[in-house]
Amino acid sequence: MSVVENIQNVRAKIAAAAEKSGRTAEDVLLLAVSKTKPVELIGEAVQAGCLSLGENKVQEIMEKYEPMMEYAPEGERIHWHLIGHLQTNKVKYIIDKVDMIHSVESLKLAEEIEKRAAQKDIVMDILIEVNMAAEESKFGVKPEDTEALLREIAKMQHIRVRGLMTVAPFVENQEENREVFRQMRELLVDMNGKKIDNIKMDTLSMGMTGDYEVAIEEGATIVRVGTGIFGERYYPNKG
Ligand SMILES: *Cc1c(COP(=O)(O)O)cnc(C)c1O
Repeated sequence: MSVVENIQNVRAKIAAAAEKSGRTAEDVLLLAVSKTKPVELIGEAVQAGCLSLGENKVQEIMEKYEPMMEYAPEGERIHWHLIGHLQTNKVKYIIDKVDMIHSVESLKLAEEIEKRAAQKDIVMDILIEVNMAAEESKFGVKPEDTEALLREIAKMQHIRVRGLMTVAPFVENQEENREVFRQMRELLVDMNGKKIDNIKMDTLSMGMTGDYEVAIEEGATIVRVGTGIFGERYYPNKG
């Protein structure tokens, strides 16, 4: 299957799942997760209309940023999203390159984003990463710590908290993650209900290749699909 065919497939499933949640495909952003993939292949996705790309490493965004520009259709640009763990000392490299940072999970990181965004005179859209399933191996704040972090970030002038993000457990059957996604949506509603100044969240980034349909049924507004678009990833030196 080609990248273009894969995208058509994914888009059809997104539309069906969106309909089940009383929405349309336009309510859900398909983020093509292009990590480890070469620019030529990513270019096929861009030319098929996937202008929003997700990467989990700063280094990879840096390397692909310039070469990918030429694939954007006339008058449009590529929208990069950082979806992986972000080290404080690397914020400066991507602050003027990404549209959104999905993986904010500490006050220290938020403070660095605030500082760098202020220097560039921009407002950075971010999501707070929540470790909803309480997996030890995962990044993200505990659900019960979300409010405290939100209240601190709310004071920052150069950050706009758009919503929440989670990486759900790897499961064979996506139904097993339905409860995790439902709890994420509940947390978003709950946090909006706190009426914290400057906090009005509308974004839920959840669902990957194995579970994006259920995530959408439960309210995802961004799904992050890698393998389902570009095929399996191969990591050298990792078996
Ligand atoms: C790699 C990655 C994805 C995409 O995973 P697939 O299973 O290939 O769709 C989504 N979100 C994050 C944070 C990732 O690192």
